Amino acid sequence: MNKTKIVASLGPASNDLEIIEQMINGGVDVFRINMSHASIEETEDLIKKIRKIEKKLNKIVGIMLDTDGPSIRLDKFKEEEVFLKLDKEIRIYNYHVVCNNTQFSTNYDKITNLVTIGEEIKLSNGNVLLEVIKINEDNFICKVKKEGIIKSGQTIHIQDGNYHLPFMSLKDKENIMCAIKNDVDFLALSYVRDEQDILEVIDMLIENENEHMNIIAKIENERAFNNLDEILKVVDGVMVARGDLGIEIPLEKLPFHQKQIIALANKYQKISLVATDLLKSMVLENNPSRAEVADIYNAVFDKCDALVLCDETTIGVDPVNCIEVIKKVVTEAENDFPYKENLDETFKLVSQDVTSTIAYSVVNADLILNAKGILANTMSGYTARKISYFRPRSIIIGLSPKISTLRSLTLNYGVLPILVNKFTDTDSIIKESIKEYKKVIPSQENDIVILTGGFPLDNKSTNFMKIEKL
Ligand code: PEP
Repeated sequence: MNKTKIVASLGPASNDLEIIEQMINGGVDVFRINMSHASIEETEDLIKKIRKIEKKLNKIVGIMLDTDGPSIRLDKFKEEEVFLKLDKEIRIYNYHVVCNNTQFSTNYDKITNLVTIGEEIKLSNGNVLLEVIKINEDNFICKVKKEGIIKSGQTIHIQDGNYHLPFMSLKDKENIMCAIKNDVDFLALSYVRDEQDILEVIDMLIENENEHMNIIAKIENERAFNNLDEILKVVDGVMVARGDLGIEIPLEKLPFHQKQIIALANKYQKISLVATDLLKSMVLENNPSRAEVADIYNAVFDKCDALVLCDETTIGVDPVNCIEVIKKVVTEAENDFPYKENLDETFKLVSQDVTSTIAYSVVNADLILNAKGILANTMSGYTARKISYFRPRSIIIGLSPKISTLRSLTLNYGVLPILVNKFTDTDSIIKESIKEYKKVIPSQENDIVILTGGFPLDNKSTNFMKIEKL
């Protein structure tokens, strides 16, 4: 069983009950629905499908809604797509116009204020480049420096462009209300710039009596990267959104940014996710490239919690095959990971309080005794997260009577969430936890498992550890 979590984005290639079922059986922990592409009706339909299969398979699956964020996007074109030819002039308007290969408009009505002469504008994920040559009162003119195809709704990247937009558009607010109404587990916020953006969303969640939805900040511009410490203090996790980050910063700086984001998330004991192009060649092919396999392996070694498949599972030729491939690579990396060295290094970095000491001891005992599992009883998810942070070699069985807690653990490294009845005394914690463990993990006589948690269960701290021979 792999410990690094797998997130699959849903789209036309995977919007199907049977494929969702196969992907869950293949190892998907969380499904991502990108609201830049899906309407509220489509999103709700997908949520229903996921919950239906989750129930059928009796597994815990997380759902992540991903917002549009303050992005500047192209208006709708008359044709499906248009080709911008090298050296041709294009006029971009503040107000809505009929969009074609000589003129277009965007969702921002003051776009002329954002540009300067000589500036480069990136379209179509950086595959098309324009240079600003003249600015008029309500439009500006660009020359095509790199030709290519553009499509309706694509993001237009202007240096510092989205810094001027309010963080939540009306559409974002409607989408967040959809996340609240459908009680999704994770809200991935696009184009976050600083902690104020996050606090605005948290306020909205509190106003709507939802304080348990986990917030993931997508780090996809330099400003968010520079404000990472402050952002990490207020979120549950961060996503290295390599698609947009790779356009906003020079591409060669991307690996350094990725490593820094994961390392800082680890320092704050928050979740980190790596997204985009993990298996890009599998959008069209049945096999990954050597470089993709190495990329996934390295991300596991850098200690991310989860890997996010994007186009591979939304429009790829075989989403289920992608899950099989990524799982194999992740498992290989996890077999090679230096658990003992990592444990000792990690313990030096934390404040050595009761919970951290128990977490360290549990993970250390797991290594010394070659245990077969860690059974963490948890109401809020706190104990399971603490153990996960130390990256044990064994799986952590997160046992809780709270479904929202279990779903919130679907992104944490190594945690297998299992729904149980509420235990009322320590004897039943031990007996029932082992019973649940045996249902999901094939076990043999004399196998060692380590139990941990807080007792009484509502107590938000970890205070016991027990080693049991089966
Ligand atoms: C990304 O930019 O890498 C990403 C995951 O975001 P989106 O799919 O919204 O572009």
